[in-house]
Amino acid sequence: MAVLLTGGTGYIGAHTAVALLEAGREAVLADDLSNSKAEVLERIEKITGKRPAFYQIDISDGAALSKVFEAHKIDTVIHFAGFKAVGESVKKPLDYYKNNLNATIEVLRAMLKYGAKNLVFSSSATVYGPYGESPLKEDAPTGCINPYGWTKWMSEQIIRDAAKAHPELSCVLLRYFNPVGAHPSGLIGEDPNGIPNNLMPYISQVAVGKLDHLTVYGDDYNTPDGTGVRDYIHVSDLAQGHLAAVSYCERHAGVEAVNLGTGRGISVLELLRAFERVNGVKVPFEIGPRRAGDVDECFADTQKAASLFNWRATRTAEDMCRDAWNWQSKNPRGYEITSKA
Ligand code: NAD
Ligand code: UDP
Repeated sequence: MAVLLTGGTGYIGAHTAVALLEAGREAVLADDLSNSKAEVLERIEKITGKRPAFYQIDISDGAALSKVFEAHKIDTVIHFAGFKAVGESVKKPLDYYKNNLNATIEVLRAMLKYGAKNLVFSSSATVYGPYGESPLKEDAPTGCINPYGWTKWMSEQIIRDAAKAHPELSCVLLRYFNPVGAHPSGLIGEDPNGIPNNLMPYISQVAVGKLDHLTVYGDDYNTPDGTGVRDYIHVSDLAQGHLAAVSYCERHAGVEAVNLGTGRGISVLELLRAFERVNGVKVPFEIGPRRAGDVDECFADTQKAASLFNWRATRTAEDMCRDAWNWQSKNPRGYEITSKA
């Protein structure tokens, strides 16, 4: 039986595809390439020696999605597809609700139509909003402060309601903390459009000379060095977490929300210093004002993932920084230019 990865050519999808193929699973990728490149497929093949089936479709097009289910025996879907830029979601809320919610609804419809029972959904620690206290347990209060976050929160609710009405479904809502890093080969990694919003790709692009300096958003937070603390998790650990979630789904029915993080908080300055130390590069920075909506700290309680999935993140901040730099320095302009080289 095959695993369908919606958003499969994206950053986390590509790493998870590699992990699935290396584990001997059949992976089918579907993506509209709105935020990724077809070149990813070549890279996946270079790493694994296998080329997954690929469909360039909009997941919210039910007829197109049906064709994928008709062509493959799919029992599991990992649903990554969605828009993910927080700032853009504030400016274009309707685009975000339309794309992200319709995608989730059509995935569920297709699963029910074709008898696929297992769903692993890409949720986010953003569903905890500014409300819970770190370490965040899965039963901490939820609520969001931007449309992107609400699409995750609402998708979780849609999935819970669908599973209530269809008890044969088995769903895991994975709440990722801060995925960073890249495959150690340097063949796949994060390739943001335009100027990155997130810290690690920003640091990498300063280090490679694409950007002049990093602005640290505030040094007056209630944290040991005053800069924001987050739970960065290596994307390869995250990919393994998906395999563990799939295997959990295959053995249980119902819905579980599960954090995927390391449980360790790292500050902006700590990550920056680790990046400089591990890679022997300089990352100029200046301290700027706080970014609206940022919290002092956000890190996971990882007990539930450990007990349900028997999974824990193993890679260190140094691994994350080394692999992020390996990817960035080998592909200074992402997938596009190197693929023509
Ligand atoms: P990404 O943008 O690299 O991958 C998402 C993929 O979905 C892209 O390739 C895009 O082209 C595709 N896509 C979007 N809408 C689509 C549609 N309607 N039909 C088909 N394809 C569509 O993002 P990522 O970092 O790999 O994130 C994967 C998932 O995890 C997303 O749902 C994201 O919201 C969630 N997530 C990401 C992070 C993070 O920091 N990267 C954190 C928490 C949650
Ligand atoms: N950050 C920063 N400068 C940047 C980008 C991010 O100082 O250019 C900080 C941000 O304020 C937060 C941390 O880095 O404390 C992680 O930010 P990111 O956007 O990567 O993740 P999120 O805030 O969504 O968890």
